[in-house]
Amino acid sequence: MVAGTEKRWDVVIVGAGPAGASAANLLARDGHAVVVLEKDTFPRFHIGESLLPLGASVHERLGLEPDPEVFVIKTGAEFVHEASGQSAFFKFEEALDGPPRFAWQVDRDGFDTKLRDLARDAGATVHHGQKVSDIDIDDTGVTVTTQSQQWRGRYVVDATGQDRFLARRARTITPYTGFGKAAVYAHFSGLSDATMVEIGPGNDIRIMLIDDGWAWYIPLPRRRLSVGVVTQRKTATVDLMAEYLANSPMLTRWVRGAEQSAPRIVRNFSYKNDRPNGARFACIGDAGCFLDPVFSSGVAIAMTSACGFADVLSPALTEGREGDPDLLGPMMEHMDRGYETFATLIDRFYNTNFGTNFFLSEGGGAYRRGLISLLAGDVWRTDNPFLKVLTRSHRRRSVAPAPTMS
Ligand SMILES: Cc1cc2nc3c(=O)[nH]c(=O)nc-3n(C[C@H](O)[C@H](O)[C@H](O)COP(=O)(O)OP(=O)(O)OC[C@H]3O[C@@H](n4cnc5c(N)ncnc54)[C@H](O)[C@@H]3O)c2cc1C
Repeated sequence: MVAGTEKRWDVVIVGAGPAGASAANLLARDGHAVVVLEKDTFPRFHIGESLLPLGASVHERLGLEPDPEVFVIKTGAEFVHEASGQSAFFKFEEALDGPPRFAWQVDRDGFDTKLRDLARDAGATVHHGQKVSDIDIDDTGVTVTTQSQQWRGRYVVDATGQDRFLARRARTITPYTGFGKAAVYAHFSGLSDATMVEIGPGNDIRIMLIDDGWAWYIPLPRRRLSVGVVTQRKTATVDLMAEYLANSPMLTRWVRGAEQSAPRIVRNFSYKNDRPNGARFACIGDAGCFLDPVFSSGVAIAMTSACGFADVLSPALTEGREGDPDLLGPMMEHMDRGYETFATLIDRFYNTNFGTNFFLSEGGGAYRRGLISLLAGDVWRTDNPFLKVLTRSHRRRSVAPAPTMS
């Protein structure tokens, strides 16, 4: 027997990001034996720093406190078209009644570490430096292999983020082709007093509309700014950051005198896993689906899916029903509806005049409130008048097949 196989865990979770750590926390506090296997050591850099009001209730459930070293308040988003001088603010306080009126911008190294610590406090065992190389699922359980050990469990959770372990292995990835193709991003440290005044106390994300994509400015704790440029160009390199900086008077002004980290690039990040669950396994967070980052939906939706998943799996473990291949059906359908709403919004953003019609306009009454609700992540409600406009609007260009979610 390989070392480690003697203990049978209830749940083996692969990946300690927001999805894996949230699921581990909730399952462990219900008394289940949970082990999390994470290839990296924490704290570690991760992109994805602007959160949505949608996530606030999940934070509360997990016991997450907003430490000011890691969190700054975010009250909304401003869309800016520098070339024409047009811009418009969308404040969460104007959303339809529902989720909280604020969100957070976070340092992901500290945020993910706190979520990991809370999972441990709840009773989960977390091992770092354990890169999973194989997952085997049989009728009675699962065997997960890392470089040093095998881990036997009743159920396995793939929370490997963009690595999407099971989807790559089973070749069940469908890309979203009409969205951003590449993102180049960096941090700027030591922002000036003048920039802090321009950012304002609301620390709103700025979404800059540019010819073949958009850019984000995300204020972070300790006078830092996360900047990313997302393009539909297939040929982008890290030089895109310098190119964008040279052409943006606003960013040039905001980062004057600040220190820039080396730019990083990520490509082909938008996809759907066509087989996110089955007998004894589930893929949650980015391992199940990731859309484009333009509306900052990633972390909030990953943590929401982790909660929904834990709420279904926990009683099933207690009652011995975890081997049911259809266990997660209704929960996954619910998540699909949320992803589909975001995917439609993102599609219209890239492929129609929607951006200029709605995101650069201060008017709109009930539609505006409805749009802000979607920007807050309140994507499941059926009484949002803006949703009707969204789903009826037509795509202008046919650059790619419309995204579909089964
Ligand atoms: C360019 C870009 C910008 C983004 N901006 C935002 C934003 O502003 N706001 C937002 O909410 N979201 C944003 N996102 C998305 C966000 O980063 C993700 O949605 C979020 O991190 C998903 O959480 P997760 O737990 O599913 O995956 P992750 O956070 O990626 O965690 C997965 C974990 O699994 C581990 N792992 C992977 N493979 C293995 C293995 N084989 N064995 C063991 N461990 C493994 C990894 O090391 C990692 O720690 C952005 C994404 C991109 C690409």
